[in-house]
Amino acid sequence: MSAKIISGTEIASQIREELKKEVQELSSKHGIVPGLVTILVGKNPASISYVTGKQKTAHELGFYSIQDDQPEDLSESDLLTLVEKYNKDPKIHGILVQLPLPKHINEKKIINAIDPDKDVDCFHPVNVGRLMIGGSEAIFLPCTPAGIQELIVRSGFETSGAEVVVVGRSNIVGKPIAMIMLQKGKGANSTVTVVHTGTKNLDAHCKRADILIVAAGVPDLVKPDWIKPGACVIDVGVNRVGEKISEKTGKPVPILKGDVDFERAKEIAGAITPVPGGVGPMTITMLMKNTVTSAKLHVGLKTE
Ligand code: NAP
Repeated sequence: MSAKIISGTEIASQIREELKKEVQELSSKHGIVPGLVTILVGKNPASISYVTGKQKTAHELGFYSIQDDQPEDLSESDLLTLVEKYNKDPKIHGILVQLPLPKHINEKKIINAIDPDKDVDCFHPVNVGRLMIGGSEAIFLPCTPAGIQELIVRSGFETSGAEVVVVGRSNIVGKPIAMIMLQKGKGANSTVTVVHTGTKNLDAHCKRADILIVAAGVPDLVKPDWIKPGACVIDVGVNRVGEKISEKTGKPVPILKGDVDFERAKEIAGAITPVPGGVGPMTITMLMKNTVTSAKLHVGLKTE
């Protein structure tokens, strides 16, 4: 039987509609407009495209949004001053400094300078700690892992008591999604195993998973016979494996592949995310959700 395809595009669009309503309500009932600033240093084409996508979404949702472009040779101290300016700006609830930064700037120093209560990317050590503590402490969830959790929950998979296996232990995906699924609460309460390059018998761990989350960055790493029949498979990997000519534009575009052998895995899994169109569209959406949460917290409103 073929698996249900979990469409990140559709789920992201549902969440954006919910956020749009929330933004309208915040404005009409409380006079607050969520404010997001994206700071871009230099002209890295991938970064320009990410920041443009974030600004476009913020605009569509009715946010107050600023795109602050800075030259490649901006000094570290000038960037710290800029972050401080937005830390103090009451109209701004979310500050995003697009990474990577030019080599002469210490990224850690910049992330640590962002007010943790405006750190909507959830990279500040204070927010990483809050996530570890969980419950109401975790005001923001990091965007890609939060998107993964939404995909699982909104696809109707029971997480409580489920065996969750996470392939990969990066600070941006593997570790935080493991921590999210481990929490005692709705959409989590799972038994979590994290595997990596030091793990023996990777396949045996994956085969136990009711929910298998793969974030390794290795095309087709997970074979169909590593998947438990009926499991929910979330493929986070985005691997460029070549180029093709786009039918729409006639220009070369990358061929993308996930970390799971999708074509064969979908015959065994109960549900699976495609690449592209799975986890990808969720990340920006969860950034917007964090900004709305931040706006509410800044005026003392309750969040979920
Ligand atoms: P990363 O920092 O390179 O970490 C990869 C992790 O996978 C590491 O922990 C590594 O183990 C583990 N790993 C690699 N090869 C393995 C193997 N053969 N067996 C077992 N474990 C293995 O990657 P990342 O930043 O987490 O990203 C992972 C993938 O997700 C990439 O393809 C990335 O493009 C994609 N991604 C997508 C989104 C999105 O869609 N929005 C967001 C973020 C990332 P060790 O720790 O032992 O080295």
